[in-house]
Amino acid sequence: AVRIEDLHKSFGTLKVLKGVSLTARQGDVVAIIGGSGSGKSTMLRCINFLESPSGGKIIIDGEEVKMRADGTPADRRQIERIRTRLAMVFQSFNLWTHRTLLENVIEVPVHVLKIPRAEAIAQARVLLKRVGLADKEDAFPAFLSGGQQQRAAIARALAVDPSVMLFDEPTSALDPELVGEVLTVIRDLAAEGRTMLLVTHEMRFAREVADHVVYLYQGRIEEQGPPAEVFGNPKSERLQQFLKSVS
Ligand code: ATP
Ligand code: MG
Repeated sequence: AVRIEDLHKSFGTLKVLKGVSLTARQGDVVAIIGGSGSGKSTMLRCINFLESPSGGKIIIDGEEVKMRADGTPADRRQIERIRTRLAMVFQSFNLWTHRTLLENVIEVPVHVLKIPRAEAIAQARVLLKRVGLADKEDAFPAFLSGGQQQRAAIARALAVDPSVMLFDEPTSALDPELVGEVLTVIRDLAAEGRTMLLVTHEMRFAREVADHVVYLYQGRIEEQGPPAEVFGNPKSERLQQFLKSVS
């Protein structure tokens, strides 16, 4: 589970997050929608400590992240421990280009989690099979389609058995015909009860898989609720406008 409380983030004088609070309980899929620049990626990056919050709290599996006054982690070992429970999948399929898919998937289990190599390989094969890449374990990323690369990135994220998965527009860099195969993998993860925060511009998909939808507008939650409400009966005029602009 993940909870953020009153999260603030500024870059210099630019206030990007102005007090965002949200909770994803165990097994929840929370979809985050909003216009370009509304702070969606920044929020995920703060949760994953890729950015230092300017204020607020982040609580992962009941454990509050200890931060210094400037938002940097106060306890290295705590961060390292919590990091292994989070997995992030980005828009661009940041696989290691000089390693095969199998090597990509076993990297963190072997080198960070210290899982024996043979065990990590066996587990990686199961994960690659799950995302439909059983026959590609020896391929290098450059020889795969975008959809295959993104599915491999998801297999790699799953290799740490994360308690929370963070997806930042996982299909937005894909050719339209490849979007479906990646959404299918994410849909399966949702169905098996993975906790996830999913930034997406695929509104139909958000409506289908999310338990809860959050609409960000200029660094604040403008409206949130169950998908049927947020998409079917939006109250905020800004959200109504936004939904028109993306449909
Ligand atoms: P998009 O839908 O285009 O991905 P987003 O909602 O993810 O948008 P963010 O990437 O979180 O938006 O950016 C929010 C604002 O913060 C933007 O104005 C962006 O220019 C600014 N910003 C993000 N990262 C930095 C940074 N490292 N330094 C300075 N400004 C930044
Ligand atoms: Mg973004």
